[in-house]
Amino acid sequence: MQRTLSDRDQAVIWHPYTQMQTAPAPIGIVRGEGARLYDEQGACYIDATSSWWVNIHGHAHPHITTRLAAQAAQLQHCIFAGYTHEPAVALAEQLLPLLPGEQRKVFYSDNGSTAVEVALKMAIQYHANGRDDVAPPRRRLLAFRNAYHGDTFGAMSVSERSVFTKAFDSYLFDVSFLDLPTMENIGRLCDEVDQLAGDTAAFIFEPLLQGAAGMLVYQAAALDLLLKHCRGKGILLIADEIFTGFGRTGKDFAMQHLQTAPDVICLSKGLTGGAIALGVTTCAQHIYDAFLSENKLKTLFHGHSFTANPLACTAALASLELFREPACRQQRQRVSEAHAQFAGWLNNCPSVKNVRQLGTLLAFDVITAGPDTYTNELAAAIHRFFRARKVMLRPLGNTIYILPPYCITNEELEVVYDSVRDFLRETGN
Ligand SMILES: *Cc1c(COP(=O)(O)O)cnc(C)c1O
Repeated sequence: MQRTLSDRDQAVIWHPYTQMQTAPAPIGIVRGEGARLYDEQGACYIDATSSWWVNIHGHAHPHITTRLAAQAAQLQHCIFAGYTHEPAVALAEQLLPLLPGEQRKVFYSDNGSTAVEVALKMAIQYHANGRDDVAPPRRRLLAFRNAYHGDTFGAMSVSERSVFTKAFDSYLFDVSFLDLPTMENIGRLCDEVDQLAGDTAAFIFEPLLQGAAGMLVYQAAALDLLLKHCRGKGILLIADEIFTGFGRTGKDFAMQHLQTAPDVICLSKGLTGGAIALGVTTCAQHIYDAFLSENKLKTLFHGHSFTANPLACTAALASLELFREPACRQQRQRVSEAHAQFAGWLNNCPSVKNVRQLGTLLAFDVITAGPDTYTNELAAAIHRFFRARKVMLRPLGNTIYILPPYCITNEELEVVYDSVRDFLRETGN
């Protein structure tokens, strides 16, 4: 008898963020199309979280597939120091003008965490390069409480200390954390920045929306004031748009809700439409210029074997072509309007609180006796319920969020909303 994917998996695979002793057997996925994924028994699942927030145009999109196949026949990979290629150059040419502020250079890497590592290194070395060794360089980094910037050590360091980092906390470098800004606390936050400003290199933040923290939405106007203040103190601004980029928050990039422009931007997730891993760190001209020198020590010594992989860059180019189509904006608008309507229903539901919507994201917290954190026991039950309903929703603790690919149909969205309604009813809520 043929063993299932799921059985074979359990013999040899260790999954991410998964307690392997207690986790249910994984579902073997064999095919994707649009917002749907099919398992090895032929059952169809609606991907209501965009396969970990990366998919924007749907699975196996024919345009991305065709472009990838052509590129695979032409050039799959080549070293990116001393050599270059069309997909990397074309992607940089097309991406930079779309970005908020005046981003002038693209530095490629492999994923979100590496894009963050590159941004931190750029910011730290920017200050070091600009000074002679006499003056102490700005060493400190600022981040928000509850931040999430990735799982490598630098990215973990600028993230909130949490269940994700606990085993490693003593290995992480010190970072100063600020509360999320509101119009009420902005004065205090600016005072805190003043205290730290003298030796602070950069401030890294997820604009408007902290994803992994539990889809926390905060005010653009207050963030804008805080960023202006930081800039006035010579602190570099690193916008981590790995999650918020490419239309998630309603605008193309979350920073476009603000007036202040970032010095550095990190992108990944939706960058290739969710087809292949790719990370990008972009910067303003003055950042790049600070590394130009006869002195080799002022070089940015960072790179990865697969930096600017031509296949990944091609997927990103194809995804950008789809993203720029008016149809994509219409899809985002349609999802966002459907969410707004369902948010109205949720707001009248007594077992639900903190309903929040931003663009194609809709999130809310289920009221439970447990804590409002990632470790809330309800998470496993939520996950099981939706798996059985063939809706891929993976909660963050007691936070349920719906974040579909933009191409999801109205009918598919209704199936997702109905499953949420049933969950809230059937669990006695
Ligand atoms: C997912 C995410 C990252 C890390 O990206 P990976 O590709 O998973 O390493 C960093 N920052 C934010 C805001 C993210 O949502």
